[in-house]
Amino acid sequence: MRWQNRRQSSNVEDRRGRGGGAVGKGGGIIGLIVVLVGMYYGVDLTGLVGTPQIGGAQQSSSLSQNQEEHINGLARVVLAETEDTWSDYFARNGQRYQAPVLVLYTGATQSACGTGQSAMGPFYCPGDQKIYLDLSFYEDMKRQLAAQGGDAAFAYVIAHEVGHHVQNLLGILPKVHQAQQRADKTRANQLSVRLELQADCFAGVWAYNARQRQLFEGDDVSRILDAAESVGDDRIQNRSQGYAVPDSFTHGSSAERKTWFQRGFASGDPAQCNTF
Ligand SMILES: [Zn+2]
Repeated sequence: MRWQNRRQSSNVEDRRGRGGGAVGKGGGIIGLIVVLVGMYYGVDLTGLVGTPQIGGAQQSSSLSQNQEEHINGLARVVLAETEDTWSDYFARNGQRYQAPVLVLYTGATQSACGTGQSAMGPFYCPGDQKIYLDLSFYEDMKRQLAAQGGDAAFAYVIAHEVGHHVQNLLGILPKVHQAQQRADKTRANQLSVRLELQADCFAGVWAYNARQRQLFEGDDVSRILDAAESVGDDRIQNRSQGYAVPDSFTHGSSAERKTWFQRGFASGDPAQCNTF
């Protein structure tokens, strides 16, 4: 990606190196409950929250300072590009885009959705309209999700979380969360899948604009498609337990995630992203 020397967003709250938030304080089972209950209202990338295969032993960031600064700069540029994309869209509809804040943290941090932990991967919290990101996820992506996309895959992840913010601004997120509370587990999962696929499609809309601004080079786009596939529920379940249970999907299959991203990417039109 040609991300150097572009505008970096200032909507970033840097909490790196500030230690573990409340995880050590409350600890044990209470801490766990806060995390799980809270995350029901937050929206994440993979749906792996609270599952042992990814939420187990917490590894401290293995990034060198150079790597961290690389990813830090990349994240700010991608966020700035999402601001441009969605500001244009909202302006075309006579509205003003209220950009989300990106919180960079290390290990664990507080959010309005409970304690955020890096093992969860990136997530969006509608309660405070912030995206929570531990930069070590860049490496986790390779290790735990088998996504080798590097910068472009990482950009897709940020654009996906911004997609949830757009859903929040459009009133879709609160409506779906309400419906989920009245629904049984299977139905609630189906609604979650639709939300997630729409966020993928919105990420595609961002990518459409990013391509016009010549942000991509080489095989960036195919790496994004690989990343979208690698976070599909079937792919993740097959890898972790050897089989997939479609009723338990919360984010959509690999094929669906790729398809909806492509839909946004081909059209650049959020109206093409109606997964409901
Ligand atoms: Zn998501």
